[in-house]
Amino acid sequence: MSEGNKINATSLPISSLKGVGEKLSNSLIKLGIRNLEDLLFHFPIDYLDRTKLEQIADLTPENDFVIRGEIEKVSQTFVPRKMLLVKIKDNSGHIFLRFFYYFPSLRNIFKEGANIQVAGKSRLGRYGLETIHPDYEILNNEDFIPKILPKYRLTKGITQQKIRKIISQTCQLLRDKKIEIDDYINHPNLQSLNDAVVGIHQPDHKNPINDYLIGGESKARLRIGLEEIIANKISYLSIKEQNQNRPAERFENNILAINIEENLPFSLTPDQKKSYQEIAEDMASGSPMLRLLQGDVGSGKTIVAALIAAHVVEDQKQVVILAPTTILANQHYESFCEWYGDNENIVLLTSKLPVREKREIYQKISDGIVKIIIGTHAVFQDELIYQNLSLVIYDEQHRFGVNQRLKLKEKANDYPHQLLLSATPIPRTMAMGVLSGLDISTIKSLPPNRIPVMTSTLANSKRDALIKRIQNAIANDSQVYWVCPLIEESENELTGIEELEKILKKEFSKNDYEIIHGKMKDDEKKEIIKNFKERKTKILLATTVIEVGIDVPDANIMVIENAERFGLSQLHQLRGRVGRGTKESFCILMHSETLSEISKERLRIITETSDGFSIAESDLKLRGPGDILGLSQTGLPSFTFYDLLSNKELQNEADKYAKEIIKLPVESQRKIIERWFPAHLELSDV
Ligand code: ADP
Ligand code: MG
Repeated sequence: MSEGNKINATSLPISSLKGVGEKLSNSLIKLGIRNLEDLLFHFPIDYLDRTKLEQIADLTPENDFVIRGEIEKVSQTFVPRKMLLVKIKDNSGHIFLRFFYYFPSLRNIFKEGANIQVAGKSRLGRYGLETIHPDYEILNNEDFIPKILPKYRLTKGITQQKIRKIISQTCQLLRDKKIEIDDYINHPNLQSLNDAVVGIHQPDHKNPINDYLIGGESKARLRIGLEEIIANKISYLSIKEQNQNRPAERFENNILAINIEENLPFSLTPDQKKSYQEIAEDMASGSPMLRLLQGDVGSGKTIVAALIAAHVVEDQKQVVILAPTTILANQHYESFCEWYGDNENIVLLTSKLPVREKREIYQKISDGIVKIIIGTHAVFQDELIYQNLSLVIYDEQHRFGVNQRLKLKEKANDYPHQLLLSATPIPRTMAMGVLSGLDISTIKSLPPNRIPVMTSTLANSKRDALIKRIQNAIANDSQVYWVCPLIEESENELTGIEELEKILKKEFSKNDYEIIHGKMKDDEKKEIIKNFKERKTKILLATTVIEVGIDVPDANIMVIENAERFGLSQLHQLRGRVGRGTKESFCILMHSETLSEISKERLRIITETSDGFSIAESDLKLRGPGDILGLSQTGLPSFTFYDLLSNKELQNEADKYAKEIIKLPVESQRKIIERWFPAHLELSDV
């Protein structure tokens, strides 16, 4: 599509930009950015309003602002930690700038009496209004330039300023028509993709910011949104199309499965039966299965997966069950051994095994001696060769990265059957538009006899009451999960796991509790879970490592610290760890005294609702544009731009274009999808 001397943005590596060396390149690659088109498709996740100069006296806490003033005083303190404090005044009032982690040279940039422009987010500190690590510019009579500044998703080694600079440099190349992006949609009423991309990175400051956010009315937004929906639609359409023409092994024997089912200590729920039936039909159809099995936490997806695996084992072929954590892999291994009544066919493969043991397992897998391979990402090792991998089951599928999934598929002889398990249900309103092409089975009801978890909230100031209650509970044989969110360095007001331990140390005996977190060795974690399962410890003090899948039916109390920090789906997942046995269960959500409106609403919903589906719906509704990043927690495919949720008209429009584009050569389709959803490629092969 190149004309004249324009260069296609995909053919220029990011290293061709000024100021992008090896180190920055490597960081950018972590964000999936390799060439200039990737960079241009790294869209803002939010914008900062830098359009209006304000007076200091008019500033309110927790808002973005720009002010101009004079540096009144600069001071450094070392207690409680190293910090640079800069006092700024204008003729209405003053504000403090606070810097932690800074180079000593920063001290010399701020000269008392100099004029400065400061932009940041204000908050109420100990000495009044302050702002932490703001943007600033020492002034020499420059005029104020109003701006809407884009905010990007970052990774280690990249700052906002840096990524803004290189994206703006690349936008300039687009404007100057030195480079171009392939555009497959030509319509007189639509902006060109090239213009839209520039527009979304560099909004016109005269327009309201909302026009550029989800559901916004700016031309750039509409055009990019349309592009995203189309990409999504064609990705699934192509999967469907291809799968129809591709043969896959048929699995029709179910004697082993029947045998396992008959020996279970429980009978399957009607939803489990129905889902199992649907999956079994796919496996017998002769085309590759691509199915999502969704069901609330604790609904019993694992046994359904185990029964399906039995079809493959009976025919002497291999199954991989991929778990996101070692703890979970371990637990699945135990369940499978129990259900299958032996462990000869089954092997557990995690990355931390001793080399010799690993070699032995590899040998057994390539010789076909073992049929069920349960593991973490270790199942992807290059040296590992499967004899005849025919079914891949991804547990909590959204936790796996693109490359991991791709690797596993390469290991199968033919096109394998794929089953994705997810505990975060996809609301019906979305499933149709977003996931058309992926077959879905749903387990709606929980196994019988489950008593709903009583959920309540408690402010941090009432911690004493909580401690009494837990002391009583463990004296009466209860077991407790006590969960802390992960903490970022700058957020020292939160109760981290170490802080919490200090409190517990005083209130409980040393044998009552153990700590578990993600950075521990696998063996250590295994031991701790085992102790908890065997009731040797009463309290498991944990980070969110326990979010996924731990199954200890006796545990009946869940305490969540800083519950306002979690998304709804995550809270629901955590709560799902209790209420698995016959005892009455409780979930106590600790929170700070002051809550934002949205946090209040979240806590209200989670205390009033136990149905995962309606929680997922509310979760989506509550998430605003600023919360796009958190979307990965919902279990939905990782949408970059999130327009899929809004605008029915755009959806219909996209349908029309998608049907046309699907007729284009596969290469072009692949390109459009890849821009948006590299994750879909592994499923489709477009
Ligand atoms: P999830 O869907 O969250 O992965 P699991 O598969 O871990 O749930 O199942 C949760 C618990 O419920 C397990 O202990 C499992 O053995 C048990 N379970 C599964 N199905 C049933 C059933 N039909 N009746 C009773 N218990 C069941
Ligand atoms: Mg599970």
